[in-house]
Amino acid sequence: MPDLSSELESFASELDAAVEAHLNWSRRVMRCAVLRTSPGEDVLAAEAHTLCRFGCWFVSKQSAFEKLSAPRTQRLLAVHQSMHDAIRSICEDVLAGRPGRSADLDVFEDTQSELIHMLAEFKTQFLATAVRHDHLTGLPLRYGLEEEFIELQRVCRRNSLMLYVAVIDVDHFKHINDTHGHPVGDIALVHLADTLKRHIRPGQPLYRFGGEEFLLLMQTRSAEEAALAAQRLINLVRETPVMVPQTGPLAMTVTMGLCRVKEDMELHAAIECADKALFEGKRAGRDRCVVAPE
Ligand code: GH3
Ligand code: MG
Ligand code: MG
Repeated sequence: MPDLSSELESFASELDAAVEAHLNWSRRVMRCAVLRTSPGEDVLAAEAHTLCRFGCWFVSKQSAFEKLSAPRTQRLLAVHQSMHDAIRSICEDVLAGRPGRSADLDVFEDTQSELIHMLAEFKTQFLATAVRHDHLTGLPLRYGLEEEFIELQRVCRRNSLMLYVAVIDVDHFKHINDTHGHPVGDIALVHLADTLKRHIRPGQPLYRFGGEEFLLLMQTRSAEEAALAAQRLINLVRETPVMVPQTGPLAMTVTMGLCRVKEDMELHAAIECADKALFEGKRAGRDRCVVAPE
């Protein structure tokens, strides 16, 4: 599994380097104002905000920022451009021997401070989100599970729906690792997570719950619907082998244990109940779904 902490560290240090590059850029602007030296194309060009090092870096990472907040990403782009527009105007005045306008200076000061503040917020949010997600599969880890479970319990009660906790465990996964190696095991897990993600309905959160275990919260109208949906996922996994370079298609099956969440049932009790059903499924031969008796 890739080292999450080093990935995080590298993103965080890239962000710090981009802010540092911006500060260096500000120093050049200051030298222009005091010494009348040209600050360079990434200040004077009309598209300066796309030329500066910070701007280039930000655009290359834009989708990562948008995942956190699309409106705030757009705001950051707009603030960055306004800052460049203001500073270009100031530098043009200075180089032409005119005094700069105070309105431009106000915009520059406000936008620069907003930019730095927003980046600090993004950094905190990025780190907090990254540690809550599994780096291999991109699925959420169990941190937010309790909260989501309580929320779904409320939604199901309000809409007269049934809530199920489903524990999904790969069958004989150790054998896949032992036969093909750990990296192939990783590829299989990513493939499985993608297969599940593509076929679960919206509003049914899927978590990476443990090594080769996943947890799904299902809202259904009936017990039959829950069992059918679970069986559909099991069939799908069986019929969608993972393509491994050199090895070829690799078949995989999963067993699912389901527990209907009763009124006021706590998460840990529901998981324990789903785990028991899973154990029954394993005992009965795997590649199947068992619903815990009520
Ligand atoms: P069963 O059908 O009874 O569930 O058998 P199993 O082999 O799947 O279960 P077991 O608990 O014996 O083995 C699970 C294996 O999953 C052991 C562990 O090394 C492996 N595993 C856990 N996390 C990862 C991972 O992130 N990547 C890889 N490649 N293997 C993992
Ligand atoms: Mg397991
Ligand atoms: Mg297993």
